[in-house]
Amino acid sequence: MLSLDAYLREAEIAHGHLCAGQILGVRMAMLGLEKLGIDDPRGKDRKRLVTFVEIDRCATDAIGVVTGCRLGKRALKFRDWGKMAATFIDVSNGKAVRIAATESSKAKAREMCPQIEDKNQQQMKAYREMPEADLFTTQWVKVDLPAQEFPGYKGERITCAECGEGINFKREVLRGERKLCRACAGERYYEIL
Ligand SMILES: [Zn+2]
Ligand SMILES: [Zn+2]
Repeated sequence: MLSLDAYLREAEIAHGHLCAGQILGVRMAMLGLEKLGIDDPRGKDRKRLVTFVEIDRCATDAIGVVTGCRLGKRALKFRDWGKMAATFIDVSNGKAVRIAATESSKAKAREMCPQIEDKNQQQMKAYREMPEADLFTTQWVKVDLPAQEFPGYKGERITCAECGEGINFKREVLRGERKLCRACAGERYYEIL
């Protein structure tokens, strides 16, 4: 693993700026890896890790930088829950740890750095120095990860009986005898004009 500062430099480049969320995300991911005993997530351990993130904000980019888990590699799973939390899974042994930012960390940052008025600056400084126990709660968890969720899964590709588009990774929905894509099954997030 690299140092906090080294990861923050990389996170700043990847994300476009350095912010409190980057610091939170880098520290969260470093803690997760440490708990799992994974120290080279982007090198020799790169096939061992799958990460679930529960928010699409600054910290999420930082988690991707530290873990090397990316959406396009299927190693980063997004659950849109609006929570500053992530679960790190060692798929080689099933060990998983969920780490969430505490609600009290913002107040704690105010206490630690009352002299800094800008909230982002205040949190950036405090989140670097704050003890882990003030910043995060940690839970050991079990994550049911079916075969089709694994990064290297090679499955059958089928076509939707309604729109004819291809569907990978068993994302089809069975309606009677028909296999439909999720859009045709009623989960469409767009309207066809
Ligand atoms: Zn940011
Ligand atoms: Zn369809």
